[in-house]
Amino acid sequence: MKVPFLELKAQQPQILDEIEDRLRDIIANTAFILGKYVEAFEKDFARAQGARYGIGVSSGTDALHVALMALGIGIGDRVVVPVNTFIATAEAVSLTGATPVFVDCDEFYNVDVGKLEDLLRREAQGTGHKVKAVIPVHLYGQPARMAAIMDLADAYGLEVVEDACQAHLAQYDGKPVGTFGKFGAFSFYPGKNLGAFGEAGALVTSDEALYEKAKMIRQHGEIERYHHRVIGHNYRMEAIQGAVLGVKLKYLDEWTQKRQDHARLYNELLRHVPGIDTPKPMAGAASVYHLYVIQAHDRDGLRAYLEEQQIGTGLHYPVPLHLQEAYAHLGYNEGDFPVAERAAKRILSLPMYPELTEAQIRYVGEKIRNYVKSE
Ligand SMILES: *Cc1c(COP(=O)(O)O)cnc(C)c1O
Repeated sequence: MKVPFLELKAQQPQILDEIEDRLRDIIANTAFILGKYVEAFEKDFARAQGARYGIGVSSGTDALHVALMALGIGIGDRVVVPVNTFIATAEAVSLTGATPVFVDCDEFYNVDVGKLEDLLRREAQGTGHKVKAVIPVHLYGQPARMAAIMDLADAYGLEVVEDACQAHLAQYDGKPVGTFGKFGAFSFYPGKNLGAFGEAGALVTSDEALYEKAKMIRQHGEIERYHHRVIGHNYRMEAIQGAVLGVKLKYLDEWTQKRQDHARLYNELLRHVPGIDTPKPMAGAASVYHLYVIQAHDRDGLRAYLEEQQIGTGLHYPVPLHLQEAYAHLGYNEGDFPVAERAAKRILSLPMYPELTEAQIRYVGEKIRNYVKSE
């Protein structure tokens, strides 16, 4: 049996007719940028995420960058970022001229709140540049501990931008992620839980002034055609992406439930396998399982074995950000973030998408048990 790590084609039969109608309409009207499909999607997506406003942009990275720009983050500022995330979270900070300050993760792969507090206390005692914002990441679709993070943000006067690029529809304490901080940033990269036919992203916010500012920044700081109030960027969403996302959004609840069902089955199959750690559920957090990530003490051996059995796997992420060449100038060392560093050597992402079959998941479980037995 073949179990690819990701199988994007599987969802197409369900949605293609409706999408083709919309694409023909866009082509006939040569209305390729923003437009009615993007506007409708912005409204529908904001509603789905429990926010007042949505802003369609060109990627998740750009969503993060716009959010930080709208909050006035810039040169000399420091922004706390978890060290175990996709590099885009930190890049968005660097693109504003600010400096990312890394923090270790906890057993749930999200910001360790105790270490965040220590860091903020230390930073507050220093002279000169101060921490202005924190970007919690809801990694793998599991919400970060937003109640505690918001308490710390209030205590230290920090802005919060949530990186929800992997966490569409995830909830913490019954409230959708992306609505705790000033902005929630989402990615619609094709492999994400809600994926475009190309690059796309969005911000959600419930603050009207920030909504207006972010919309302005998305389009060169324009207030009316060729009149620019601030320096912005070209971060507009393409009409085609808005059209595709508007159709796919209707299925997101159903697809999310399937991911959650698959995770439950994986948990059952793997819970008692020696040497394998399944993802730890956190109280109050409803994960949407963008990724299903286990830990294995012989990760590389297991990965090679699964590959031989035609089971695709992934590593998210093999190198924490403080050990990336791109961030060498920040002067961190190996050993600075022990939890993230240990996880990076042990994590393994198993196939996870709505269209996986029960037989495929059972096959993956069986092969993992076989490998552990034969070790
Ligand atoms: C995918 C992702 C991004 C960036 O989104 P793009 O649409 O690829 O630019 C940022 N942060 C996290 C955690 C992501 O997974």
